[in-house]
Amino acid sequence: MPTLIPYTQHQLTSILFQIKDAIYTFLAPLEISAWRTAEPVPYAERLKGEELRLEVGDSWGKLFDCAWFRFRGLVPPGGAGQTVVLLLDVNGELCVVDQAGVPLRGLTTVFSDFDFTTGIAGKRVLPLLNPATGGEVIEVWADAGCNDLFGNLPNNGQVKEAAIAALHEPARQLYYDYEVLLDSLKALPENSARHQQILAVLDRAAHCLQNGINDITVTQACQILKGELDKRGGDPSLEISAIGHAHLDLAWLWPLRETRRKGARTFATALANMEVYPDYIFSASQAQLYQWIKEDHPALYERIRTRVQDGRWEPQGALWVEADTNLTGGESLVRQILYGQRFFQGEFGISPDYIWLPDTFGYSAALPQIIRGAGLRYFSTQKLSWSLINRFPHQSFHWQGLDGSSVPVHMLPEDTYNSHALPASLAKIESNYRDKGVSNQALMVFGIGDGGGGPGEEHLERLERLKNFAGLSPVRQEWTSTFFERWAKDASGFSTWSGELYLERHQGTLTTNARNKWYNRRMEQALRELEWLAVIAGRLAGVAYPASFLEKTWKEVLLYQFHDILPGSSIKRVYDETSDRYPLLLAEVDDLIHQHQQLLSGQIDTSGVQKPVIVFNSLSWERTEWVKVGESWQLTQVPSMGWRVVDAAAPQTLFLPLYAAPDRLENDRLRVRFGDNGAIVSIYDLLAQREVLPAGERANRLLVYSDLGDAWDILLDYAAVEPQPLQLVRAHARVDGPFAVLRQDYCFGHSTMTQEIRLAAGSPVLEFDTRLTWRETQSMLRVSFPVAVQATESTAEIQFGHIRRPTHRNTTWDLAREEITAQKWADLSQRDYGMALLNDSKYGHKIKGNVLELTLLRSVPYPGPRLVEDEDVQPGEPHAGYTDQADHTFRYALFPHPGGPMEAGVVQAGYQFNYPLRTLSVDQHPGSEPATGFSLQIDDPVVIIESVKQAEDSLAAILRLYESTGGSAKARLRFGFEVAEVVETDLLENPRQKLDLNQDSVLLTFHPFEIKTLRIRR
Ligand SMILES: [Zn+2]
Repeated sequence: MPTLIPYTQHQLTSILFQIKDAIYTFLAPLEISAWRTAEPVPYAERLKGEELRLEVGDSWGKLFDCAWFRFRGLVPPGGAGQTVVLLLDVNGELCVVDQAGVPLRGLTTVFSDFDFTTGIAGKRVLPLLNPATGGEVIEVWADAGCNDLFGNLPNNGQVKEAAIAALHEPARQLYYDYEVLLDSLKALPENSARHQQILAVLDRAAHCLQNGINDITVTQACQILKGELDKRGGDPSLEISAIGHAHLDLAWLWPLRETRRKGARTFATALANMEVYPDYIFSASQAQLYQWIKEDHPALYERIRTRVQDGRWEPQGALWVEADTNLTGGESLVRQILYGQRFFQGEFGISPDYIWLPDTFGYSAALPQIIRGAGLRYFSTQKLSWSLINRFPHQSFHWQGLDGSSVPVHMLPEDTYNSHALPASLAKIESNYRDKGVSNQALMVFGIGDGGGGPGEEHLERLERLKNFAGLSPVRQEWTSTFFERWAKDASGFSTWSGELYLERHQGTLTTNARNKWYNRRMEQALRELEWLAVIAGRLAGVAYPASFLEKTWKEVLLYQFHDILPGSSIKRVYDETSDRYPLLLAEVDDLIHQHQQLLSGQIDTSGVQKPVIVFNSLSWERTEWVKVGESWQLTQVPSMGWRVVDAAAPQTLFLPLYAAPDRLENDRLRVRFGDNGAIVSIYDLLAQREVLPAGERANRLLVYSDLGDAWDILLDYAAVEPQPLQLVRAHARVDGPFAVLRQDYCFGHSTMTQEIRLAAGSPVLEFDTRLTWRETQSMLRVSFPVAVQATESTAEIQFGHIRRPTHRNTTWDLAREEITAQKWADLSQRDYGMALLNDSKYGHKIKGNVLELTLLRSVPYPGPRLVEDEDVQPGEPHAGYTDQADHTFRYALFPHPGGPMEAGVVQAGYQFNYPLRTLSVDQHPGSEPATGFSLQIDDPVVIIESVKQAEDSLAAILRLYESTGGSAKARLRFGFEVAEVVETDLLENPRQKLDLNQDSVLLTFHPFEIKTLRIRR
C-alpha cells in the first residue's frame, strides 16, 4: 500500500521557523538611551555625544554615525529560575562591553541587506543570567555603529529590538537538531535509505509539533530525531577540516575606522563562543588587525593571546594585510610578509607557514618564489572560483612561479570563505572538489565574512552535530596549518599550474581610482630611495638609520595595499582619507631623502668645481642623462647607486640639432610626425631605419569608452560602442634645452587635458607628461599604440621579473585575459624589433594583435552609490558618486627598440623612467669621499639591486637583488664601503650561507628571475 508524506519540504521548513520562534520568550522591555557622535569615542567618553532617549522604532542616526547605547531594565518575577538573555538589535553593529569597557560580544542587526549568500548575519542574543532569580537590575553598555556588516543603513537606523527574554534551551537544541536533519536532505541522495529515513523522522517530529511547541512536544520531537542524528559514518573517503573565520576587509563599504571596531566586535564574539563550544577554533589573518586591537582594546588582546597559547585561536597567513598582488610592488610584497611574520612571531611566538589570500583579485607569478623565499610552505585562496569564463581545473595543486619555484595551493573546494557549516556545505565540498581523486583532505572556512562578524552559534551547533554524520564527510575543527600538514602528504599526486593565477574578473581594478595607485607607486619609490640613502649615509657619514620612521611609514603604505583599497573598490571616504595621508607621507619621506642627501654630501669632496651640484643615482647601473644644473643642461654620467659632483657654472653640453613643430618632433634617434587631432601618424627610427607604426595607423590615440561597469568590472563588450576621441584644441612646439617638446591641449565634455610630448637629444624614448582635469561619468579613458610587429606574445613586467602572455584569442583562456597587468612596462616585440610602453603609475593594459593599449582612468560609480549624498552637482563639477573625477598627473613613454625587450634594456628603461636622477646644490668643501663615487656596483646589468635597507635586528645592511631577464647570471657585486662579512639570507633576513668576500666584492650566481637577499656586516 502506498504511503503519503503529508509534509512537503516547504511545510517542514515552516515548522523549523516555528521552533525558532519558540526559543525566546519576551519578559520585559529595556529602557534605551544613547549618546551619539559622528566619530567613535572611547568608553571613558561615552557620555560626550548628543543624548538620545529612544524607543523601539526610533531612528538613532545616519550611516556611519556612532553612539554609546545604555540598556537598562529589571528582570520580572516571571524570570526566576529561567535562563535570561537580552535581545538587542539597533539596526547596526553593537559591541557590548563590560563595566571596564572591555568588549564582550559583537551583535549585528538581522536586517543586513547586502549579501544573504553569506548566511544570516544577525547576532541579537546577549546571554546574561543562568538562572535568574527575578528582580535583577540590568544595565548594559554597547558601542554602536549605524551600519550593517556591509556598510548599508538598514531600516533607516531604527532601533528594532531591546528586550529581556527567557531562553528555552530544549527548543534551541531541537531547532538545530531539526535544521541539520532537514538540510541534510539536500545533501543525501533522494533514493538513499538515509534520506528517506531522515525524511520519515522529520515528518514524525513535525506531526508531534503541530499541536503546539511546548516542553512536552519539544522533548518528544528531540527523541524522535535522535536516532538519525546519532548515526555515525564509517571509513571516510574525504575528511574535512573546518576553521572558524571572519574575512574582514580592512576598508571597503566602510571606512578604516569602522574596521577597527569591526575587529573588536568580531574578536569579542569569537572569544565568547569559545567559552560555550570546547571544539571551537577561530582564525584571523592580517597582523594590522591585531595591531589595532592591541592599541584599542589591550584587555581583549590579552584574552586573544591566551587563546592562541591554548591552541584555540590561529593567527593566519603571515601577512601584514591581505594585499593586492597585481599592483603591489615586489619589495612591498616582501615587506607584507616581513612585517606580518615579525608581528606574529613577536606577539604570539608563532610564524604561520602559509599565505592566506582568499579574496585578492588574482595572484602574481612572482608569489611562489616570494612565498618560498620567506620560508613559507603553502598558499590558500578561493577567489579563482569567481572567474567568469573558465573554470580553474584544480583546488589542490602545485603553483609554479616565474623562477620555477613551486608551492602547494589549496583553493577552498566550497568556493567560499563564508561557509554556513551546514550539511549542504559538506556535500558541496565533496561534489565540487576537483582533486578528490588525489587528496582526501579539504578545508572548510566557516563564519560570516567580508564585513567581519564571524561564526555565530548556528555554525557551531551545526558542527557539533556533523562531526561524523552518516552519509556526509566527517568534519573536525583544527588549525589551518594542521590541515595543510596532513593535506600536503598527498602533494606528490597534485597537478602543476605554471604562471600567474589570473582572475577572469575585476580587471577594472587595475585602473580604478588612479590617483591612489599613483601615490602607491610614488611611496614605493620614495621609500626605496630613502632606505638606500639612509644606509649609505650611515656607512659613509655615520648617520643613524631612521628605522622606526621607516617601519611606521611602510606599515601605513602596506595597509593601503589592502585588496579593496589599492584596487580602487572601496567607498569614496576611503580614498578621501588616503588622499589626505599619501601627500603627507610622501612629503615626510622626500624631506628625509633631502636630509640624508645633505648629510652624505658633507663627506663628498666638492672642492674641485666652482658651483657644485651633486647628482644622485639610486639605480644599480651607471646612467647618462640630461640634468639641469643651475641654468644649464648637462649630459651627466652618474655611477651605479652613487653620485657625481657637477659644476653648475660649466657650459651646457653640446648636442645634435633638435626639431620641434606642431606636426613633428625630431632628434638624432626618432622622427615623430603628428596628424589630425594630435595623434602620431609616424615614428621613424633613424638608426634602425624603420617605421615603428603599421602603415596608415595612428598612435597615442586618446579614446573615451562608455563604461557601464563598476569599480571592479569592465563590461566584456565595452568596445562594441564606438569610443570618442579627445579633441585637440591647440598644439604648441618648442625646443627647451636638450628637449624637443610638443604641448597639446585637449578637451572632452567637461574635462581638459594637456600633454607635453618630449624627445631628449640622443634618446630613443618619447615621453608623454600628462595633466588631466577629469569630470566625466561612466567613461573610461584609454590610449593606444599600434606597432609594426608580428608577435604572438607580449611581455609585461611584474614584481621581480616579467611574464609573457598571448596576444591572440585562440582559447577561452586567452580570450579571458583581455585586460592584463604590468608594473613599470609592457612590450610588444618580434625577434628583431619592438616597442615598449613605459608608465609611472598605470597597471591596466590590453595587448591584442599588434596594438598596445594603456587604460588611464575609469569614471564608474563608487561601490555603494546609495551612500552618495550630493547628487545635485552641476555638470563639470566633481561628482562624489564617480571614481577618478579629479585632477591627475601621470607619465608614460614609448621606447621603440631593435631586438627583443631584454636586449634593448627595457627593464632598465622602466626603472629610469620611474626614478629620475635627484640633484642637490651644495657649497664647495673638501670631503673624504670622491666627487664621483658609488656605493654598490654589479658587473652584469641583468642583475638589479631592488632594495637596500638596514637589517631589522642589527646594524647590518640588507640587499635584495634579482635576475631580471629570465636567464642565468654570474655577477660580481662590489661595495663602495668597508665590508667585513656577507651572508646570504632568506627574504626575512634569516641567514642561509656565508659568501666568500674577495676584498671589496662577492661573486653571485643566479638562476632565471632568482631573488637573492644579502646581509652585509661592517
Ligand atoms: Zn576581501
